[in-house]
Order: sequence, then C-alpha cells, then structure tokens
Amino acid sequence: MRFLPVFLDLQTGPILLVGAGELARAKLRLLAAAGARVRWYATDGNHDASGLEAADAARIELAAGDPLAADLSGVIAILCAGAGDIGTAMSARAKAVGLPVNVMDDLSHSTFIFPAIVDRGDVVVAVGTGGASPVVARRIREQIEAVLPARIGDLAGFIGRWRKPIHQRIAETSLRRRFWERVVDGPIGALVLAGRGDEAEAALTNIADPSAFAGAQASGRAEGRVTLVGAGPGDPDLLTIKALRALQDADVVFYDELVSSEILDRARRDASRVPVGRRVGKPGIGQDAINRLLIEAAKSGQRAVRLKGGDPFVFGRGGEEIEALRKAGVAYSVVPGITAGLGAAAQFEVPLTFRHEALRVTFLTAHKAKDAETVDWSVLTDEKMTVVVYMGMTAAPSVRAGLLAAGRSPQTPVGVFARATRPDAQAAVGTLDELPALIQKIDGGPAILVIGDVVAHSAPWRNSNLNQVISELLEAAE
Ligand code: SAH
Repeated sequence: MRFLPVFLDLQTGPILLVGAGELARAKLRLLAAAGARVRWYATDGNHDASGLEAADAARIELAAGDPLAADLSGVIAILCAGAGDIGTAMSARAKAVGLPVNVMDDLSHSTFIFPAIVDRGDVVVAVGTGGASPVVARRIREQIEAVLPARIGDLAGFIGRWRKPIHQRIAETSLRRRFWERVVDGPIGALVLAGRGDEAEAALTNIADPSAFAGAQASGRAEGRVTLVGAGPGDPDLLTIKALRALQDADVVFYDELVSSEILDRARRDASRVPVGRRVGKPGIGQDAINRLLIEAAKSGQRAVRLKGGDPFVFGRGGEEIEALRKAGVAYSVVPGITAGLGAAAQFEVPLTFRHEALRVTFLTAHKAKDAETVDWSVLTDEKMTVVVYMGMTAAPSVRAGLLAAGRSPQTPVGVFARATRPDAQAAVGTLDELPALIQKIDGGPAILVIGDVVAHSAPWRNSNLNQVISELLEAAE
C-alpha cells in the first residue's frame, strides 16, 4: 500500500482548483457536491460553471491572476486538472509548502490521489488502486454499490446521534461495541434500513437497560465466548463468511503457525493476536496452556477466536479444546474450515471419490514413524479407498512400508501436495513405491499425501504423462 486512504475535512478551508475545460469542471462538480469550498483558477479564463446547484455554486470563489502566485494561506489542498504545464509548477509549489497536491493523471507530481467513491451520506467507501487502474477501482465500486444497502448512511447517522447518550450509559468499551452490534444486526437496524427511522428512534428510546440489551452478565461485563474457526489451507478467499465474521468480531485471536498472515489480516484491526502454535522444531506453549488462555479470555468478557489451519476438527485438537471449554462453563461455537486434504484435492484436481473407482476416503495421521508403526495398515488395503495422510512427510517411508506390507500395490498412484492453495503450492506424483523419493522433490511442507487410483486423474499426473509422451516422441524423432 503506497497511498493510505484518509478523509479530508472539507470544512477546514478552501481547495485550490487550477485548470480548465471539462476535466476541471468534472473535479469542480465532485468537490462542490461533496460540500467543499473551492477557489478556482480557470487557466483558460473561462469560469463558466453552469449546471451546479445554487448552494454549491455559492461556495465557489472565482480567482483571477497567476495561480503560481496564489495566496495559499488556509488552503487545505491543491488540485490541478487540465492545467497543462502549470500543474507541474503548482505541484512544486505545493510540495515546497507541504500542501497535499493532485495533478490529474500525473502520479509523479501528486502527493494524493482520488479514489473511486461510494457515497451513502455518512457512509463513504473509498476504493483505490494506487493510481494503477481507475477502471479496476470503478468495477470494485460497482460491486460495493450493489451490496451496500441504500440507507446504510442513515444507519450511520442514526447511530452517530445516539452515540453520546449511550456512551454515558455504558462505560465499558467492549460492552458498548456489543450494544451497537445488536442495534445494527437486529430489528432496530432493519427499521432504519427500511426507511422507518421514527420507529427505530422509538425502539431505541424504549431500551430501559442498555447494558442488559448488550448482553452484560451479572458482573456488568460483556459475555465472553470462544469461537473455534477453521482458517482453511492457506488461500484467504477460502475462508467461510462465518469465519470472516468471527474474525471481524474478535477481541483476541489465538492462532496457529499454519495460519497465514493474509488470513490474520482479516481480523478486526484492534483485536490482539496471540501466536500459540508450534513451529517446526520449536515446541508450542502446549495444549493445556492454550486451553487456559482460551478460558481466561472468555471469562474476562472477551470474544476469543481460536484460529486453526484447515478445519478445527480434522487433526486440529478442536475436540480437546471444546471439552476444556465445556468443563470450564465457557460458551463456544465451531466454524468449520476447508481441510488441507480438500484444498489440495480441489487445486490439483484429485477427485477423492470416483464412481466405481474410489468409494471410500480415509483421513489418516502419521505424525512420526513411531505413530506410523501403530497404524493398522491392514484396514487400508481396499483398492477402492483413497487414503489422505496428514503430517506424513517424515513418516513417508513407514507409510510406504506399512501399505506395501499389508498388500497394497507398489504401483498405486500417489501424490504429495505441498502448501496447497498457497501461492507457492507444489505437487509431486508417482507410485507408492516411489513415495520417499517424491517427498524429496518437494521444497518443504506442509504437505499432504494422497494415495489411491484417483491420483491418476489429477492435473500433475496428466501433465507428467504428457511430458513423458513428449520426451518419448522427441527421443524417437532423434
Ligand atoms: N486441521 C488441519 C490439519 C492440521 S495437521 C486441516 O484440517 O487441514 C497439519 C497437517 O496438515 C500438515 O502436516 C499437512 O499434512 C497438512 N496441511 C496443512 N496445510 C496444508 C497445505 N496448505 N497443504 C498441504 N498440506 C497441508
């Protein structure tokens, strides 16, 4: 991000507009409609601004003379549109006195740029692309226009008017936030959005005990809870809408090492983030300590999110955590995530089941060779079963040995899928016999192993066969 979106208070002074023609007039309309005071230097001497509303036109001051000699005292920003070379010179002047300046379509002479704007009164959405593509910004704006309720600005205004009185009645910040969430998400918000502002006013006035409405406990504090959230295999777009919402509502996020920073960035900005996972080779703080942290957070009234890679209930120890929460009497819920096996299957086109070919799927963990020794491989010999192995990189030789000893064919197709759904995802495919060698081809985990005939349908398998055919053809041709 090079350009930070900020909102300029137009009440604090005039904006200097330098330029001519339709470009300048378009900016004039934008500024006037936003309520700005504009001091306009028309570089072609044509000050015609017809078409503006009288109230807007009254805020425009026509300036004569050389804009480069303009008095800049009190001016809050400078805007050049259709100003030709004067724009460059104005930019130098603005920079010399530290005033924000925009020269239209000239990033190198601008210190600020205009975003695409969604205007709903008090609610304004600014979309920027760092000046790279106004067209992309406009497309995004269209999408936002489509999903934002028409009266969302009214809702913000409504809350703005009630803010102070409610602030006086609910002292605690987090409880106050809950209060407004219930207003926004509940019937009162719906009334405002439906244009029934009077009824919404009445409903809010009738709330006798705002703290109770916000869900305060006997202690007067907000009710805390823990949400176990599946973060998926890596791609942030694979988060569920529920997961996103939990992250947006969180006071604190306890996250695993597998969770990418892009996903963590989707949490509420003010939420504290606590890493609790173990890194390769470094122990984590331990499950008991994690359980204690979750319980403490909830009991202190916080909304805690326990964010885990993939799905919380697939080799995620989610079961142990909710057991501890239940024992401690803490409210909790679970938001599923896309488990790594499914993420890898989708990305590399491995249908885990296939008519007549694969009728069963087993999710297996083989954390260490020692674990692998305790696996009963004899139940995994069904040729129509796809076996998905989590945490199986180190134990791969034991997985191979176990399955072969139990009688599965050494020719069984196998895929090693690393960092699935992330930008650096990688695959190696071959046969069960080759499994340890396939692991060597991968530049590090996390990786999932998929074993079964379905791997022969996968994209990397098809490609490797294609490559083989091509090289055989080339050899034959030589
Ligand atoms: N709860 C998680 C699994 C945690 S166990 C889930 O449902 O996905 C950790 C193992 O998950 C890793 O050893 C690896 O086998 C697998 N894994 C996690 N993320 C992965 C990814 N992006 N690509 C491939 N495997 C992954």
